[in-house]
Amino acid sequence: MRSWGHVSLFVPWSCVRSPLGEQVLGELGQELPSKSVYPTGGDVATRYLDPLVNTLPPGVASLGTKVVGVTRAYLPAKDWALSPELRSTRRFRILTRHLDTGEERHWNADFVFDCTGGRAPGWIGSGSIPAIGEMGSRGQIFDDIPDIAGRDRIHFLGKRTLLVGCGPAAALCAIELARLIAVNPDTGFLWVTRGQSELPCQVMLNDPLSRRDVILKKANLLVAKKPQGLYFLNSTQVDAVRYLIDQKKFYVTLQIGKTTRRISCDSVVSAVGTRPHSGYILELSGSEIGFYRIADGTHRDMPFYLEDGQKQIRDAFREVTGGSGDDLYAFPPIRTLPKEQGARLFVQRPHVIAAEGA
Ligand SMILES: Cc1cc2nc3c(=O)[nH]c(=O)nc-3n(C[C@H](O)[C@H](O)[C@H](O)COP(=O)(O)OP(=O)(O)OC[C@H]3O[C@@H](n4cnc5c(N)ncnc54)[C@H](O)[C@@H]3O)c2cc1C
Repeated sequence: MRSWGHVSLFVPWSCVRSPLGEQVLGELGQELPSKSVYPTGGDVATRYLDPLVNTLPPGVASLGTKVVGVTRAYLPAKDWALSPELRSTRRFRILTRHLDTGEERHWNADFVFDCTGGRAPGWIGSGSIPAIGEMGSRGQIFDDIPDIAGRDRIHFLGKRTLLVGCGPAAALCAIELARLIAVNPDTGFLWVTRGQSELPCQVMLNDPLSRRDVILKKANLLVAKKPQGLYFLNSTQVDAVRYLIDQKKFYVTLQIGKTTRRISCDSVVSAVGTRPHSGYILELSGSEIGFYRIADGTHRDMPFYLEDGQKQIRDAFREVTGGSGDDLYAFPPIRTLPKEQGARLFVQRPHVIAAEGA
């Protein structure tokens, strides 16, 4: 959320926080903003998530640490056909790597809550695989919503941009880019979508998120007005994208229906959604007892909201504790899970001891 910290959420604070989160911060005397206010991604990170992480007992959170792999300990390779019950007789074995120090460690655990989200940026290439050259140009492509009005303005004002995508993120970028055209008429952008619709964004009938509805409609209206500096192409795939450092320019090959067109531009914004970070769970079978995926990105066409995650966490904890009374979000909140038990859900064991028997 920090990476798009400048973006306002489509939901107010009331949909972002759980009763348990409110209770924990309330006990600390920490006041949360009014429930009706719409926070930015940065607000949620600094005013809600950071203070909650700070309340965890020492040793529970290993920050700056990447999970490289999760498997079942000491099972031979290619054992996915074993029943989930047999597999669950072995604990989870996890390899982590500290991002600063490079330190690698093994951990054992009875339960794994996979909350890695769906935030690996999608590819702009046809069929959602990388376009030719996209992997090599990744560092130069904006694949999180750039702060076009602020921090990243220099890359767009008076420049030519290729914008790819058709969702709320693309709509937000288009609105901001159009504002820059008004400031500097040399600014221009080509907006391409894969769909055939005459307008870039699909608007939901009676969208429950009124802010999203406004943004999508505003972006469609922009395209319909055909202002100078804004070009829109539907039915368009990105076949190749190369960034030439010495020229500070992108060269892009587009497939527009059956026609191929080559363009150059100064910036490329990829707003084509995300895909799950799943490489580290490749050694697990499809159904692992004790493995809970809090599932952003599992269904790539379904939006996943903070409230969905909270519901899934509640359900997962109910199952783990085996008790119908263990409802983390019951109102008024009841915490039947002692802090120490929470800490024990992720158990660190020295490698040698674990090797004697999982
Ligand atoms: C621009 C934008 C606007 C949005 N607006 C709204 C909104 O208005 N309302 C709403 O409810 N939702 C909104 N969402 C969706 C919301 O942000 C997500 O639903 C939410 O962030 C999902 O939370 P998460 O913890 O599951 O995943 P994430 O927020 O994606 O967090 C996953 C974390 O796991 C880390 N991670 C990944 N792989 C590993 C690994 N191998 N090891 C260690 N850590 C790893 C990542 O670095 C990341 O910090 C929006 C999303 C975007 C992009």
